[in-house]
Amino acid sequence: MQISNPTRRLAEFLLGGVVLVNHAAFSANVDYFTDNGFGNPSSTLQHPTGEFYKGTTYLAYQGPHEDSYVCAYNHARREWSGPVLAGVSLMGKTPDPIDNSDVDNHGKPAMMVDRKGFIHVVYGAHGGSPLLGRNPFGAPAGTPRGGKLTHLVSKNPEDISSWEVVDNVSPFGTYPQFVQMDDGGVYLFYRHGSHRSDWVFQKSTDDGRTFAPPVSVLKHKAQPTDVTVHDAWYAWFAKGRGDTITASYIYHPCANPGHTKDRHNAYFMRMDCGDDSWDNIAGERLTLPVTKESADQKTLIFNTGAERCNHGTCRVDREGNPHVFFRYDKGQVRYSRWTGSVWTGPTAVLPEGGSGGQDGDMIVESSTTVRMLLTSSNGDKGEVGWWNTTDGGQTWAKQPPLLSRVGGGYGIGALVENFTPEGMVVVSASISSQHLYRQMILLGTDGPVKRPEAEAANIVKDLLKIMKTGPLKSGDKQVLAVKKGKKKEKYMEEE
Ligand code: ZN
Repeated sequence: MQISNPTRRLAEFLLGGVVLVNHAAFSANVDYFTDNGFGNPSSTLQHPTGEFYKGTTYLAYQGPHEDSYVCAYNHARREWSGPVLAGVSLMGKTPDPIDNSDVDNHGKPAMMVDRKGFIHVVYGAHGGSPLLGRNPFGAPAGTPRGGKLTHLVSKNPEDISSWEVVDNVSPFGTYPQFVQMDDGGVYLFYRHGSHRSDWVFQKSTDDGRTFAPPVSVLKHKAQPTDVTVHDAWYAWFAKGRGDTITASYIYHPCANPGHTKDRHNAYFMRMDCGDDSWDNIAGERLTLPVTKESADQKTLIFNTGAERCNHGTCRVDREGNPHVFFRYDKGQVRYSRWTGSVWTGPTAVLPEGGSGGQDGDMIVESSTTVRMLLTSSNGDKGEVGWWNTTDGGQTWAKQPPLLSRVGGGYGIGALVENFTPEGMVVVSASISSQHLYRQMILLGTDGPVKRPEAEAANIVKDLLKIMKTGPLKSGDKQVLAVKKGKKKEKYMEEE
């Protein structure tokens, strides 16, 4: 039984130690497992955010000060543990900002559980900084505030209570993505620096204890016609059929001066982990790193023209054919699949003129039956629920929402790795417009996995005490934002 003394808990927090949570009896159950998510606590681009392993779902997310926290849920005992502060982020601020544009949000964690049950978390960077040395694959962040990519491993298997740093990944990395193969091989993909950097992977064959040096997959470089604009990418990597890894990605023309939100086109390619070679969808060998020119020529799914489009996720069917979605302006998802000879669509999952805010992941049941688990928003109403197709993506049917609220939307990550139907995805929800702490929800087919309120709900209250901001009054947010100087830093404007 853990100690329930709130003074001890506050002291632990101030010292950067473990946040202990009282296991209270006779407490009403709530839908969330903690309220110390912070800013954008999880997203699809840092993934997995959770993994089911031997009866327990382990979850990592961004908490106060952009630090990485871990929780675990034992399904048979219906018992939560955590949140545990696994690692402190160099990018965090104290006190916690109350405006999300003052939060970098790039250092949120990706996690995995290795074959022996050790839990791995990679987190904490938006490109590193020049102080960390020369970046061989791109540009470090322009200021020391780019953090440092850090790899943590639990000291004991199946135990989230204590952590150690394993110094074996590049400090410049951002958007970490773990892909674990059936033979235990681990590929850690990430962008090797700020947006003007290559996407790379590091490979481990010893459960993440050592990693081979980075290998560049997608190349950043100045455009031949305008050297002030750089080819840049946002990419999403996941396990394909058998011993393969899929990459679905979009193009970002990075203008100078000033990073812009320009994002276009959708691309796909595939890695054969037998020899780490890459092919396009037609099976044609690619030369690494893939440049904009070769991507356009060999890996294009569709050209979006002037329309903006951002990355989504990619899952494969039994034949190994990829199903992808990308997010267009206003957060509208469009879907496409490879039939074996052509890419379909892309088809809007929402009817024209419908709501937006769509993001999430999908389950491919067959080449024609796909279920997407998506957030969506309409005005100030937010929902999370299924959108299903049984005709290969030509039409989509919205199911009754699993979560619904008025007064804000939801954040969502990629599907929990190896998920059980009880806990498929982590969703975050704002609590108040006056601070950035978030309720964190593990959502399954029957709705949220519950937790006693006394375990889940006392963190924000304590943190507000620590911050001495108390309950904020109307107008305080504006005043505080101006006081702090709300000038955005360039590198913070990414996605
Ligand atoms: Zn850029």
